[in-house]
Amino acid sequence: MSDRPIDLHTHSAVSDGTETPTQLVRAASTAGLGTMAITDHDSTAGWQEAFAAASGTGVTVIPGMELSTNFGAASVHILAYLFDPLDAGIISETARIRDGRLRRAEKIVQKIAADYDLTWDDVLAESQDGTTLGRPHIADALVRKGHVPHRSAAFESILHWQGGYYEKYYAPSPLEGVRMIVAAGGVPVLAHPASHGKYRSMDDSIIRELVDNGLFGLEVHHRDNTDDGKVWLLKIAKKFGLEITGSSDYHGEGKPNRLAENTTAPEVLERIIARATGSTPHRG
Ligand code: AMP
Ligand code: FE
Ligand code: FE
Ligand code: ZN
Repeated sequence: MSDRPIDLHTHSAVSDGTETPTQLVRAASTAGLGTMAITDHDSTAGWQEAFAAASGTGVTVIPGMELSTNFGAASVHILAYLFDPLDAGIISETARIRDGRLRRAEKIVQKIAADYDLTWDDVLAESQDGTTLGRPHIADALVRKGHVPHRSAAFESILHWQGGYYEKYYAPSPLEGVRMIVAAGGVPVLAHPASHGKYRSMDDSIIRELVDNGLFGLEVHHRDNTDDGKVWLLKIAKKFGLEITGSSDYHGEGKPNRLAENTTAPEVLERIIARATGSTPHRG
């Protein structure tokens, strides 16, 4: 395996990244990555295009996804690698989540429209058919309408979960999520588990339960994890024998996160590949 950087968490316009899967893979190639995972929210729709785009670039694409789950009031994201995209459980559950996200986005827009000039069509114009809709698409519409200067400003105000317009959406529990990924031959890793205070509601006992059901690792090296959160994560990784990953969570121009700003060790990637039975890396 090459010693070029490994970045296992990126988004395309299939969810809330701003680049097509082709553009995303080209950006990874330009950034000098050896391996990248495409991990759109609740969707595998970008895999084939990413594989095709990787051909001849020397970039290995790990097919993946960032699964939404709900743990009480907290939204907990689980990275899933190398699962079977045709698994019936994966197909039905991700369709249900995407549908819930769509209806939730409509509700948020309805509420915002009472106070700002914004329509549902404005939001649809910021996405494509089948896109996993999220607040970033509403943010883009708010930017285009001139209500906020950029995505992050929208998240700090109108789209903040305490901003008065927030709505939740259906998602399975983290335990159901881990079980579903493992059942599809995939490898689950908790995404940015210490990103907000609220994520600390994931105490050691729930993580033990996830480990008992096949949780593989923790995304420790991620810009959203707090410093004391990382200390906690390293401690529980040791306690439960969990692997440690690091990634950028690149969203194109949708976020300041740059490719390879955090990376995963080659031996950890090898163990992810060895564990998976649902699909295989695509060597470009
Ligand atoms: P949602 O899944 O619809 O609740 O929206 C959350 C998504 O918005 C996450 O996946 C992030 O990628 C994105 N996001 C969160 N905070 C920000 C921010 N400050 N700027 C841009 N995107 C953000
Ligand atoms: Fe996102
Ligand atoms: Fe996430
Ligand atoms: Zn992400």
